[in-house]
Amino acid sequence: MRTAQSEPPADAAARRAAPPVIVYTVDRLPPYDRAFYESVRRDCVLVSETIVPPREARTFEVAAGHFFRIVSIEGPQVGDLNLWNAHDLSERFFSGKTRALHATHVSTGDRLWSTLPHLRPLATITHDTLDWYGFDADGAGIHDVIGTRCDPYTQRLLGGGDYHHCCHSNLTRALSAHTGLPFGQAETHVHDVLNAFMCTGFTADTHQYFMKASPVRVGDFIEFFAEMDLLCALSACPGGDCGATHSSDVARCWPLTVEVWRGR
Ligand SMILES: [Zn+2]
Repeated sequence: MRTAQSEPPADAAARRAAPPVIVYTVDRLPPYDRAFYESVRRDCVLVSETIVPPREARTFEVAAGHFFRIVSIEGPQVGDLNLWNAHDLSERFFSGKTRALHATHVSTGDRLWSTLPHLRPLATITHDTLDWYGFDADGAGIHDVIGTRCDPYTQRLLGGGDYHHCCHSNLTRALSAHTGLPFGQAETHVHDVLNAFMCTGFTADTHQYFMKASPVRVGDFIEFFAEMDLLCALSACPGGDCGATHSSDVARCWPLTVEVWRGR
């Protein structure tokens, strides 16, 4: 915890009492058109399935107008998701602006926005079986866009030694395998993720980032509608349900499935 070095001014209480203002007037965005997505979603047909093994990542492509679902299939597992415009890797998921526009955690009706200068919806969340969770007594929510992704550099910085199945490394290897780019070039396209199923928040006293065991269970899924042709990569995080640790082979990990569905 930081200790203040400066004495509070006489009007500290008044300064602190300024009312919070929501930064972005998101109510000016086109509203989530539930009827449209539900009508496309009805009678949709499974077109592909990708198994993401534990502590590995896989890529998958989703055509504009198709849905994809990340599904828990064997046990509680967090997945780190990257998204790119399939035709231009420089347009990719912008977790910071998505967080600023929507919230620290995303769910049905929220959009995953792309980087500047594009700032377009890459995908819209159309179903979330964990939307009942909301925010718990610790302030934690599900499907985090506040974390980044576990990576070997932070691991080394904090004295954890080398670990080669961090989500950052997994995503780099998967993108390299898909595109043929050498690791060093593929790595520059890997970006801050949507942490699917991850349960996180900031502590009430010090506002430090914390995680707790994901409430995801077998059969749960989060579903997205591709607003443009997408290339995606998903890593089954080495933290498993991220209830205790990550960036190691200690946590129990499970595979995830990605299903791509074609609507009517
Ligand atoms: Zn991870």
